[in-house]
Amino acid sequence: MTSNLQKKLIEKDLIYGSQNYSPLPLVLNKGSGVYLWDVDGNKYLDMMSAYSAVSHGHSHPELVKVLTEQAQTLAITSRAFYTETFSNYIEKLSKISGFPNILAMNTGAEAVETAIKAARRWGYFSKGIKENQAEIIVADGNFHGRTTTIVGFSSEPEYQRGFGPFSKGFVTADYCQSNCECNNICEKSINSIKNLINENTCAVLVEPIQGEGGIVTPKTGWLKQLRDLCTENNVLLILDEIQSGLARTGKLFAYQHENIEPDGLILGKALGGGLLPVSAFLSSKEVMNHFNPGSHGSTFGGNPLAAKVATKALELIYEDNLIENSKEMGAYLKDEIAKLNMPFIKDIRGKGLWLGVEIEKNISAKKICLALMEEGVLAKETHETVIRFAPPLIITKNEIDWAMTKIKKVLTDFS
Ligand SMILES: *Cc1c(COP(=O)(O)O)cnc(C)c1O
Repeated sequence: MTSNLQKKLIEKDLIYGSQNYSPLPLVLNKGSGVYLWDVDGNKYLDMMSAYSAVSHGHSHPELVKVLTEQAQTLAITSRAFYTETFSNYIEKLSKISGFPNILAMNTGAEAVETAIKAARRWGYFSKGIKENQAEIIVADGNFHGRTTTIVGFSSEPEYQRGFGPFSKGFVTADYCQSNCECNNICEKSINSIKNLINENTCAVLVEPIQGEGGIVTPKTGWLKQLRDLCTENNVLLILDEIQSGLARTGKLFAYQHENIEPDGLILGKALGGGLLPVSAFLSSKEVMNHFNPGSHGSTFGGNPLAAKVATKALELIYEDNLIENSKEMGAYLKDEIAKLNMPFIKDIRGKGLWLGVEIEKNISAKKICLALMEEGVLAKETHETVIRFAPPLIITKNEIDWAMTKIKKVLTDFS
C-alpha cells in the first residue's frame, strides 16, 4: 500500500508536474542491478527496465565508474570540436554494428527524426525524387516517439489529438501480425506496402517487433520479404531498434533473427547504459554523405560523457554476456509463463527477454501490474490488455523463479 511519505511525493508531482504520464503509485529512490527500492525501503524486482533503457541493470558499477571519471575529465564540448571519446565511440559502434557511418543524437525521437531527414535527402539527391514529394511508408500500430512530425504518423488517436497540423509525406501500411490469417507469406502486410510504393517512396520505416504497440511480433520471413521488396524498388529499409536492439531479443539486433541487413538503423535506450540518453542513426556512407555542415545537429549529441558511457555499454553487452542471457532467460521465462496454463492468457509473444502477455479484454492489465507491484514485481502494461515483461538482461534463473512465484500468485488471484 502507498505510504504517507509516498502519497506526499505523488501529491507534489500532481501539483507541479505536467500530468503527461500515468505512473503506478510507487515512489522510487534507489536502484541496483535488477532491483529497485521505494522511499520506504521496500525492494522490487524490475521487470520493465525503463522500457528497455536499463538492459545492463541499474547503476552498473563499471558504467558508473566511467561516467564518474569522464565527468571529472571532460563532459560537454559541443560538436564545435573533435573529441577523443567521440572518435573512439563511433569507431566502436561501427565495428560492432557493421554500419560504416554514425550520426549521434540523445533521445530516441531525435534519432528517428535524423533517419527521416537522411531518408528524404537520399530520396532527393540519390534517387532523384522531385522536390518536396518524398514519401516514407510506416506501419499501423507504430511507435517512434513524440515529436510533432512523429506523432503525425502515429495510428494512436490520443498521441495526435490536438497536436496538428502534421507533416506530409508519410503513409501507413499494415504491420505483420503473428496471429493473422495469411499463412507464411504475410501477404496482407507485404501487399499493403507494395501498393503504397511509388516513384516518390524513399523509405520504409518500421520496428522489427512493435514494442509500445504490444510486443507485436511479425511472422518469420516477413522482414526478409520486406527487405527484398525494398531492394527491388530502390527504397531504403530503415529499422527502429531503439527498444528491440542491443541484445533485448537475444540477438544484438532483432533483424539478425532473419539474416537481413537494413539500410538504416536507429538505436537509443540501452545505448546509454541505463545512465544517460544516448541515441544514434547508423547507415551507409552513401546515405550519410548527404548530411553536410549545418544540415543537422544537436548541442549534446555525441558529447564526451555520453560517448564514454555508450562505448562501455557496448563493451558490456559482450563482457556481461547479455545476448546469450537474454536468449536463454527469455526462453525460460516464456516457458514458465506458458506452463501456468492460465485460461485468460490469449497469447505470449516476443523474443529474448522481451515478452508481451496478452490477456482477455475483461481483465485489466493495469490492475494485474498493480497487484504485481504489491508483491514486489514491477511490470508495465501496454494498451489495456498486454502485460510487458522486459527485465534487465542480467537477470538470473533464481530471480526469474522468485518472480514466477509472485506472477503465479497474482494471476491465480485474478482467475
Ligand atoms: C522509446 C522508443 C522511441 C522514442 O525514444 P525516446 O528516447 O523516448 O524519444 C522510438 N522508437 C521506439 C521503438 C521506442 O521504443
